[in-house]
Amino acid sequence: MAETPKDEMPKAYEAGRVEQKWYKFWLDKGYFTPRIDHKKKPFVIIMPPPNVTGELHIGHALTATLEDIMIRWHRMMGEPTLWLPGVDHAGIATQVVVEKMLAEEGVDRHKLGREKTQARIRQWAESRRQMIARQHQRLGASCDWSRERYTLDEGPSRAVRTAFVRLYEKGLIYRGERIINWCPRCATALSDLETDHKDIQGNLYYVRYPLEGSKEFITVATTRPETILGDTAVAVNPRDKRYKAMVGKKVILPAVRRAVPIIADEAVDPEFGTGAVKITPAHDPVDFEVAQRNDLPLVNILNPDVTMNGNAGKYAGLDRFKCREAILADLEKEGLLVKIEPYGHSVGHCMRCQTVIEPIASQQWFINTKPLAEPAIKAVTGGRISIIPERFTKVYLNWMENIRDWCISRQLWWGHRIPVWYCRDCGEVTVAVEEPKACGKCGSSKIEQDPDVLDTWFSSALWTHSTLGWPDDTGDLGYFYPTTVMETGYDILFFWVARMIMMGLEDTGDIPFSTVYLHGLLRDEKGEKMSKVRGNVVDPLDTIAKYGTDALRFALTSDISPGNDIKLTPSRLEAGRNFANKLWNATRFVVRSFEQDPDIEFKRDRITLEDRWILSRLSGTTASVTRLMANFQFGEAQRQLHDFLWGEFCDWYIEFAKIRLGSKERPSPLPVLVHTLETSLRLLHPFMPFVTEELWQNLKQRLPDGWLKTGSIMIAAYPQADKKAIDPQAERVMEAIIEIIHAVRNARAEHKVESNKWVEAQVYAGELTPAIAAYSPVIETLARARPVSFLESREEALTENVLALVLKSSEVIIPMESMVDPVAERKRLEQEIAQSRAEVTRLEARLKDKAFLTKAPPAVVSKERDKLAERKDRLERLKQSLDRLG
Ligand SMILES: [Zn+2]
Ligand SMILES: [Zn+2]
Repeated sequence: MAETPKDEMPKAYEAGRVEQKWYKFWLDKGYFTPRIDHKKKPFVIIMPPPNVTGELHIGHALTATLEDIMIRWHRMMGEPTLWLPGVDHAGIATQVVVEKMLAEEGVDRHKLGREKTQARIRQWAESRRQMIARQHQRLGASCDWSRERYTLDEGPSRAVRTAFVRLYEKGLIYRGERIINWCPRCATALSDLETDHKDIQGNLYYVRYPLEGSKEFITVATTRPETILGDTAVAVNPRDKRYKAMVGKKVILPAVRRAVPIIADEAVDPEFGTGAVKITPAHDPVDFEVAQRNDLPLVNILNPDVTMNGNAGKYAGLDRFKCREAILADLEKEGLLVKIEPYGHSVGHCMRCQTVIEPIASQQWFINTKPLAEPAIKAVTGGRISIIPERFTKVYLNWMENIRDWCISRQLWWGHRIPVWYCRDCGEVTVAVEEPKACGKCGSSKIEQDPDVLDTWFSSALWTHSTLGWPDDTGDLGYFYPTTVMETGYDILFFWVARMIMMGLEDTGDIPFSTVYLHGLLRDEKGEKMSKVRGNVVDPLDTIAKYGTDALRFALTSDISPGNDIKLTPSRLEAGRNFANKLWNATRFVVRSFEQDPDIEFKRDRITLEDRWILSRLSGTTASVTRLMANFQFGEAQRQLHDFLWGEFCDWYIEFAKIRLGSKERPSPLPVLVHTLETSLRLLHPFMPFVTEELWQNLKQRLPDGWLKTGSIMIAAYPQADKKAIDPQAERVMEAIIEIIHAVRNARAEHKVESNKWVEAQVYAGELTPAIAAYSPVIETLARARPVSFLESREEALTENVLALVLKSSEVIIPMESMVDPVAERKRLEQEIAQSRAEVTRLEARLKDKAFLTKAPPAVVSKERDKLAERKDRLERLKQSLDRLG
């Protein structure tokens, strides 16, 4: 591609024309696949696998951009660099989506059957998988597609079964009856993390339970009166004097007329409700524990679809909420409903479908997480894994130290089947990596696999090693594991990162990565979280079509810092697009100048002050950007590159160079122009890969053979700071010159000086004066000031009727009459003062108007107040200008 004829560069940058061409070029050249070199330490990121449920959203674009920045940077530094992409089958999330599609076709998954439903999900997931890969390519993600993995691939699936069997054999996986979160819509158990807790305004119902064989009552309070049907005790605190005499007696449950004991248990809070609480062990996690301590039976009252089951007596068959109404009506009738109080409390909802979950005691598979958490805590406290930003370390440790057993079985069809077989003849449980032919104990072939699948996060927890070949001892596992950085959103620190650390250590004996980098969540202009419901989502592909990929990447990483939320605004996207155009124009200028005058041989003894300045600034920027990248401060690194390229190279160095090229003076600025531009493009490449490649290739095909040796900027070396180029004196002088030009330009703009009019200026710059004076022709041209005179002492300066600009390292004095015709200026100022005064009067009147103050919304009133303050300030400044005119 670099050998194409030297076409003239088009006038404007067209991202759409360029991006796909370069992606294909990189892919065809195999640049994304690392070469294993045992003498070098690799840099490795395993990409957080997007769910196959849909298309990439803007959060994925952020992940891809940040990881690509790190990957491209390390690759350019010559490290064998692996970025391994993949996708997640996303068990429940995918099944819910496909179930909805089936429902629209009028198909029920239970009627369709497990096999056929799975086939439908598989087919759909496959189409999504391809789309996700294409979208990553549009984002410029330089990941190694030859190593792409899917959680349901044979390798990762065998890793899942192996990890399960090993944990089971160590006694860390067990099957037991526990309270789980049951989603009736999804018909599955959920982990605590998959449950959203929402504050609901409900009621607290006070219900009387008659004491057996007595006229006395004990009153309990509950938010779920239907669970009375599952009560197996009433509990009070052992120190609660009110109930001391009642402990050991029995109460008759209203509605079902079952007798249950009154017990004493420390867990009861005497301050809550009446101090006596009902115990429903099959439907409440705290009650479950009370029941275990006190040997109480479990009475499950719900069917899987949360209708009432046979234990509910006459209420059997009713929906849970219908049953609540029926029981309340009956209690009312019998005079057992004492009172109803409004009560705000938190209720669990299914994260996937937002149905109210029901705590139900059920047989499930669990991981005993405490023994896995211990080494995971040590890995972080001992410094082997660091979390960025640091404040999340505490959050991580707090969670790990209070970890609860993890319910890993799901009553779903989409996912890794639990590798457990039950014998129908002898009841033996066989746990095996490969499907057994017969029962391990009695040899019967009547064995059945557990119908459940594993929580999706179980396979995700193995992702860093299962993708590299574990449990086999592969070359990839040996070389690329432990990986280097795990980059993801802080919202999945527990779901995923914490579990990867536990399972990585458990399976391989080594940490899965040494750095966790957590990025923030994306928000819109107003700081709102992006969501489909709010209608403020930004589609990455639409944005790319409108602004270009580099502009999107630029906007996503503008101002970004680890762990803090990010605002994506149209102005940032525009800034990204404008930056790409600015670079395009700068390169076009350099290329055309070079074609007219191909003298680019660089000789250090033939350079001028501004050359020394830009080379010094280039070196300083390189050092600073490198330091920032190493500290994961990508937003600040990008900002410094932007400011250097736009604010110093384009705005000043190129302007100076134009004057030199125009006068054909020697030395030519071209060698420095080419060198600075080419180096800057390499510095910027990890952030904006497409435009930098296009521009770099344009330079390459015009420069003499051998100047740019690699076939692509993406495999060229990342620049290193040239310490010899640091030149503080050149920087001081150039900064002073720029400041002077800048100040004169501002003064001209403020006084509305016609562009064809020259103003006069006197400059005093102390010891810098001689160095600056050498640049008076340039200052004259760029500031449109003539003559510019340089003063040897401040005393020489004019004092009457002047504008005196006090700058950082100089003073600039401009005679007012050189800027303005005093008579015309006085007239203009007087007119503006009159106008401004009228506005102030009008605003003041408005803000005294009672009708306005009472009727207008506070925001409008405060806006008017701001406006008044602003106008008053302007009026004051106009008056000062008039005074200065004398
Ligand atoms: Zn659900
Ligand atoms: Zn058997």
